[in-house]
Parts: sequence; C-alpha cells; structure tokens
Amino acid sequence: MPPQVDPIPSGVLFEAETQTADLGLAADVSKLKQAAPKKYEYVYFNIVWFIFLHTVSLYGLYLAFTSAKWQTNLFACVMHLACAIGVGAGSHRLWTHKGYKARTPLRILLMIWQTMAFQDCIFEWARDHRTHHKYADTDADPHNSVRGLFFSHCGWLCCKKSPEVIEGGKRIDVTDLYEDSVVMFQKKHYMKMMPILCFVLPTIIPVYFWNETWLNAFCIPTILRYTFGINVVWSINSFAHHYGFRPYDKSLNPRDNVAIWMFCLEGFHNYHHTFPWDYRATEYPFYNMLTPTVVFIDLMAKIGQAYDLKSVSPDIIKKRAHRTGDGTHNLWGWDDPEFTENLKAQYSVITNAEKKVD
Ligand SMILES: [Zn+2]
Ligand SMILES: [Zn+2]
Repeated sequence: MPPQVDPIPSGVLFEAETQTADLGLAADVSKLKQAAPKKYEYVYFNIVWFIFLHTVSLYGLYLAFTSAKWQTNLFACVMHLACAIGVGAGSHRLWTHKGYKARTPLRILLMIWQTMAFQDCIFEWARDHRTHHKYADTDADPHNSVRGLFFSHCGWLCCKKSPEVIEGGKRIDVTDLYEDSVVMFQKKHYMKMMPILCFVLPTIIPVYFWNETWLNAFCIPTILRYTFGINVVWSINSFAHHYGFRPYDKSLNPRDNVAIWMFCLEGFHNYHHTFPWDYRATEYPFYNMLTPTVVFIDLMAKIGQAYDLKSVSPDIIKKRAHRTGDGTHNLWGWDDPEFTENLKAQYSVITNAEKKVD
C-alpha cells in the first residue's frame, strides 16, 4: 500500500522526506511558519496603559538627566537588575525551563523580585512561555513573530488571546507549578503584592530615604524602570526572533544577536530555543560571565541555594550546529572555509568593492 501523503504540510516528516542524504534537513520548513488571517479584538485598557507608560517614561528619562538625585538613578538601576534577575533566573530559567533547582529561600527571593517586575504571576508567565517554546512562530505562540515585529513586541498584549493560543496553553503540563508552594502563594496574593512592590515602594523609598521629589520618584525608579524592563523582555520576543544568525538550528526563527544581548543581556535566542533547558545564556563563557542572570545562578550554586544546574556539552553543541545550523557557528571570519558563497550572499554586504582594472 502506498504511504498516505497529506498534501498540506504538517511539519511532521514523512518517510519520503527522510529518505534523503541529509534526512530531510534541507526541506524548506519556512512555509510552515505562517500566521492565518485574523481579526484582532483590541484590549483598549492595555493600549491606553502602554501609551501612558511610554509617555511618562520619556519624561522620566528627561528628569533622570536634569533634576534627579544620583541616588534615585542608582536605585532605578538596582531595581531594574533585581527585576531582570527575578524574571530571567526566576520565571524563565527556573520555573519555565527547569534549567536548575532552587531551595526555598532562593525561590522566595526570586518570587519577590519577579513580582516587582509586574509581568504576570510566575504561573501565567511560565505557562505562556512554555507555550511560546512549544509552538514557536505558529498561531498557538502567544507572540507569534510571523505576525510582525510590532505584534511580537507588544501588539500581542493589545488584543485578546486567540483560541489557538488558549488551546496551546491548555496542552502544556503545569503540574510542577501547581506543586510549588511559592508559585501558588504568589498566584493567590498577586494582586495585593504586585502594586506595593512594583509601584508603591519604589516611589516611597527615594522620597523617604534621600528626600527625592515625588515626581522624580514616580517617573524614574517606578515608571521608567518598569517600562524599560518590559521592553527588554518584549525585545527578545520581537527583535531576537527577526534579526541575527541561526548557528544551532536554521529551521527556528529565534536568532543569536550580540547587539540585542548588549541591550537586553539576553540575546542568544537561537541557542536558547535549541537548548531551552540550559541555564546559561550561551555556550560562550565570555558572554555568560557578563550576563547577570547566569552570574547570579552560579553565585547561588556556590552558596548552596541553586543546584542541579543543567547545561549542554560542547561536543553535543558542535554536532547539533553541524547538523541543523545555518553554517555560521564559530566562523573565524571572511575566509573561513565554512563561510560559503551562499552564506556570504545571505549575511554580508560589500561596499567600496575593488574596481577591476583591465
Ligand atoms: Zn523566543
Ligand atoms: Zn525561554
């Protein structure tokens, strides 16, 4: 009997596709990453809220350079770092991906910092992020990057979740989150804790401790710090899914981009989507050394608060990059034999080309 062949690409490899020298790796899967036409149901409250946040943040940026005390600016940076670690090492590496395990005191600390960042409670953050990884760049991905840069940045939060996203979320196993008492405590008390930690305390502390004005305290360590924090996470969903190299898996939209890493301190997104259980940001120690989330987890491991840290061996990384990467893994430069003419045409621009003299 001939094999049943579905004319509509499903993403599942059929025998005929794997009977090639490269086991079907050259098959063009980009056509599978599509976004079906959709009518968006706008959430006007969020749209007004985001406009308010960004307008006040611009004013906050002006105040930071013109009238704020240095303690206020430093406080805003420290707050941002704590929030970034709460999300990066907490809801992301620990609770979504289980890249390591953490003892209760560390889980409580990360939960407090994650609440301060106000990006939904850990339970919802982790469920949505697992959905993003499981169905990346399809209609079940909450911030499907195929819908464009704006949609994957913040547009997805300006409209209601599509039925595919809700359906995808229901298929994600979250039993471990239900069993985590810290996660459940936060879920239960989120709407009481979040306003105090994210908005009230960061405004009161500068006024009370170093006599800052209410306006500066509200605009800089509160609104500007919060808005910057959400934009950092959004940028990974948007820019890191559009621009950069794919050294580990060329079939994935997420990309490695050092420029995004410099802004977000996370940006090796092709690596992350290929090896999501790795607690590190990348395979390169230099960048890990400068990534606060990774430094923090390593530090916590040294004092016994973090354990069972998962990573990927250099050998496996190399093999995977050779098998599924786009060929940009560890290129030393222009004349690297693995930097083929095809790749050069794709990833480079030549200006001031040498003029041929006859
Ligand atoms: Zn992603
Ligand atoms: Zn992730």
